[in-house]
Amino acid sequence: MNNFLTEKLSAFQSLETPFYYYDLNLLEQTLTKVKEEIVNKPYHIHYAIKANANSRVLKSIKKAGFGIDTVSGNEILKALEMGFDSSMIAFAGVGKTDKEILIGLKHDIFTFNVESLEELKILDQLAGSEGKKAAVAIRLNPNVNANTHHYITTGLEENKFGINPWELSQLFDLLAQLKNIELKGLHFHIGSQIRDLSVFKNLCNRVNELQKEFKARNISLEHINVGGGLGVNYQEPDAELIPDFKAFFQVFDDFIELLPGQELHFELGRSLVAQSAALISKVLFVKKGIKTNFVILDAGMTELIRPALYQSFHKVENLSKADAPSSHFYDVVGPICESSDCFGKNIQLAETERGDLLAIRTTGAYGEVMSSNYNLREDAKIYFHDEI
Ligand SMILES: *Cc1c(COP(=O)(O)O)cnc(C)c1O
Repeated sequence: MNNFLTEKLSAFQSLETPFYYYDLNLLEQTLTKVKEEIVNKPYHIHYAIKANANSRVLKSIKKAGFGIDTVSGNEILKALEMGFDSSMIAFAGVGKTDKEILIGLKHDIFTFNVESLEELKILDQLAGSEGKKAAVAIRLNPNVNANTHHYITTGLEENKFGINPWELSQLFDLLAQLKNIELKGLHFHIGSQIRDLSVFKNLCNRVNELQKEFKARNISLEHINVGGGLGVNYQEPDAELIPDFKAFFQVFDDFIELLPGQELHFELGRSLVAQSAALISKVLFVKKGIKTNFVILDAGMTELIRPALYQSFHKVENLSKADAPSSHFYDVVGPICESSDCFGKNIQLAETERGDLLAIRTTGAYGEVMSSNYNLREDAKIYFHDEI
């Protein structure tokens, strides 16, 4: 085994574990690839800040010239603090509080991505009381199956997100009445970790159909926002450190029907940042069981909750035994007092012992940002490629 982590092994050995290690060169190569794929197209990227709100990650995103997709008032404030222009900040979410809506109004953000008819009425009232017009994209539920884990599927009728197609005539009536709403576009987001690109083709077809309903009423739309959701290779990260953005954008080139002058917006999160970080942890103990041997790490669900929350897979590597054959099987677990605090069962590793350094791969998205202090554990430590 030889990769951008094994290169850093001797530096890692002198650091207190566990910690997140970020390779911002890899992040910037990833962002450059996206820019190359959309150049000369009416396409715009709003990075979904909920995937990773680390300030240095955000600096790289800003340097790439992307906007920000937010899902809370504090995310809006963080994006502004990092120097993103408010005209490049979108705000989605099924449950925006009045306080959060007022933050968006005060800063004249690019759009409120509105998820229900009631929210639209409240937004109109609040905008009126502030003497503002709220720029809006309507989030429609396209009823397209993302074929991903049910906890990260968002575009089905049974999900809580977006306005359903049978509410469209009510929506058109409301849009005609509400004076403080300025309709800019339509918004969709059908789920996350989508590896099957035909799902995005299905989305394009639904968007084209729904867009016709607006055109039939002479309602013009400056942009269509198709959300994020492109997946990454968790199984074999080194085989695909940069996702296949070419194939992803090609689906939209081929299947979305934009009207003259219309822009297409994307809210990529995971696919931009996931491969650029690993969680590095030390083996505390190797415990022999009857059928199973356990590797007990000093990192747990407090640093990385995805396996416990959605049974997600992250590749685990023994960096200290990079040249040894993967001849042993272990359940790799954390120290937290919860049975779900497990990074993987029956993981094939080199023979592992106390003190070895393990890498949990592909943790740049929904890793650091979801960490907690449960059990009164310390904040996750962070290192970057140019610090060590
Ligand atoms: C989470 C989210 C995204 C980003 O999803 P990824 O799977 O990380 O690309 C984009 N848009 C909205 C509205 C979201 O909630």
